[in-house]
Amino acid sequence: MHDDDADAASWGFATRALRTGHQRTAEGEHCEPIFMTSSFVFASAAEAAARFAGESPGNIYSRFTNPTVRAFEQRLAALEGGAACVATASGMSAILAVCMGLLAAGDHIVSSRSLFGSTTMLFDKYLARFGIATSYVDLTDLDAWAAAVQPRTRLLFLETPSNPLTEMAAIAPLADLAHAHGALLAVDNCFCTPALQRPLALGADLVIHSATKYLDGQGRAVGGAVVGDAKRVGEDVFGVVRTAGPSLSPFNAWLFLKGLETLELRMLAHARVAAQLAAWLAEHPAVARVHYPGLASHPQHALVGEGAQQRTGGGILSFDVAGGREAAWRVIDATRLCSITANLGDTKTTITHPASTTHGRLSPEARAAAGIGEGLIRVAVGLECVADIQADLARGLDG
Ligand SMILES: *Cc1c(COP(=O)(O)O)cnc(C)c1O
Repeated sequence: MHDDDADAASWGFATRALRTGHQRTAEGEHCEPIFMTSSFVFASAAEAAARFAGESPGNIYSRFTNPTVRAFEQRLAALEGGAACVATASGMSAILAVCMGLLAAGDHIVSSRSLFGSTTMLFDKYLARFGIATSYVDLTDLDAWAAAVQPRTRLLFLETPSNPLTEMAAIAPLADLAHAHGALLAVDNCFCTPALQRPLALGADLVIHSATKYLDGQGRAVGGAVVGDAKRVGEDVFGVVRTAGPSLSPFNAWLFLKGLETLELRMLAHARVAAQLAAWLAEHPAVARVHYPGLASHPQHALVGEGAQQRTGGGILSFDVAGGREAAWRVIDATRLCSITANLGDTKTTITHPASTTHGRLSPEARAAAGIGEGLIRVAVGLECVADIQADLARGLDG
């Protein structure tokens, strides 16, 4: 079956994840080939001229297009339910390409305050220099979003659930708010992936990914993507990427294609292990509080479940231990199985102390305001046996 078959449009999620995007070549290969080439050859000077003039379809140069990269783009677009996808060299360059492609000097962004650290840096340190200002609001406070909109607001930007506290925003009302003001809603869907949450179906205009995380899922490569409509993403964002050059490498695209094949299985398994770990931590006497969307105690738990915004609680949780940094570091340093690293979305469990790493650049006041205490530990739950993860954490929690 090929994705140009008439019934490809009706394929379910799992089928699209396995089949969409591969145009089999004359060799009859079963696995997607890696087109490891920087440029492409033309049959004649006239054909070259026609390609450059855009009169003849086909590849020219891998900064512009590459068949392996296109296969990944088509597959991810099909999974997110978008008309177009542009792959990028990293998640950050996906965000940069969105801003360069869709905003101009004088425009304004409203963003959730809890944000991936480099995204905040991109907005405040770099975009600001080009005359694009950003206001930050509480992710969960719809009134605050509405109050922050200005006449030149063109983009609302958020991550849900947030890192590391897993706070959630309802996407649909924010899409309505954006559209009422002629702005776009962009959702960084890194934590959920389309296996758990599809922002475009909820009204968002743009979905952004760090493919480095769950799309790869095995900690192998850095990459990113933007998904949305044919004009904004297929032309405007694509134009920035092909001109400025943060294009995805064909080899990394191939890794992500393979990652997408098992995405739904992995995301459901991550959530199953995370839910068990969250329930166990919630009962542990040394744990003051667990932040996990799948727990009934989570403030936005109503957004979680089959048919709700987010299908499961996801794979990431955090928890507070009494005793501040010293106690948190003791738990982290007592682990022998969990990897002490800031990465997430890997089959192997990772453990992080946000206050001294990912959120270490914030002032102590800003961290406190955000609820990121010295005793907070984030776990990106992998696919190991939950009993082994529990035993690993118990070493420090029980000690
Ligand atoms: C990692 C991450 C990014 C940035 O992606 P890179 O691939 O590291 O450039 C953006 N947003 C979120 C939520 C992330 O976790």
